[in-house]
Amino acid sequence: MSSNFHPDGTLFIVSGPSGAGKTTLINTVREQLEPIGIKLYFSVSHTTRKPRAGEVDGRSYHFVPPDQFAAMAARGEFIEWAFVHEQRYGTSKAEVRARLDRGEDVILDIDYQGARQVAADAELKPRLLNVFIFPPSFEHLDRRLRDRGLNSEEEIQTRLQKAVDEIDAGKEFYDYVIINDDLNVAAECLKAAIIAKKLQTKTALEAITAMAGRLKEERDGRFARGH
Ligand code: ADP
Ligand code: 5GP
Repeated sequence: MSSNFHPDGTLFIVSGPSGAGKTTLINTVREQLEPIGIKLYFSVSHTTRKPRAGEVDGRSYHFVPPDQFAAMAARGEFIEWAFVHEQRYGTSKAEVRARLDRGEDVILDIDYQGARQVAADAELKPRLLNVFIFPPSFEHLDRRLRDRGLNSEEEIQTRLQKAVDEIDAGKEFYDYVIINDDLNVAAECLKAAIIAKKLQTKTALEAITAMAGRLKEERDGRFARGH
């Protein structure tokens, strides 16, 4: 099947306050976009925080001790890294660059400080889409963090405190903002943003010329056969 989508590896960043629904939305859209030909690789970040119940090393995060993280950062092995809720989190340069160079699409769940660093990278910027996920209200965010059952009361308080600052700090450089009230509606919005970016080619004229050439050959073939 010929693809509707351009072959340039694209980087999708999903940011937003803890509990807004980033993980849920990313998992939903990854599953729903694959059948139409968009395969999104989730980049597994490195972090100094401890694993929570049910988190698997190498799948949720690469859990590393602080000295190892610091050494990696000093060697320039992260595209971006930041302190988030008193822990360090970073995105592997080797993994993301290799995938983008192979024409694969990568999705990141990183905070606004990381999103800002990536947006400042002149090489990555043209192949980047930044999406910010908003909770419908503070009340919803509070309830979701509690119902998720992953964080201690102290962690919930820090996350709620930071939520408003994050929204404020990130607002100027996101391409799209999606309110995650109804999950299905928010997933449709995120899919639409991703699909639109994958249709947007830098070489539209080249793509159209190639397509017209292919159709012309098919037409000529058919008429040559006398149909
Ligand atoms: P984040 O990755 O942004 O921290 P999660 O994806 O873990 O957030 O979502 C936080 C909690 O809220 C989870 O328990 C999830 O099931 C729930 N959740 C996510 N989206 C919605 C939604 N639209 N409506 C209700 N609950 C939601
Ligand atoms: P959690 O510890 O709850 O999984 O994540 C806390 C926050 O860290 C989330 O806002 C998430 O987006 C952010 N985060 C996860 N990985 C990275 C990363 O590699 N870089 C940056 N800057 N933030 C990250």
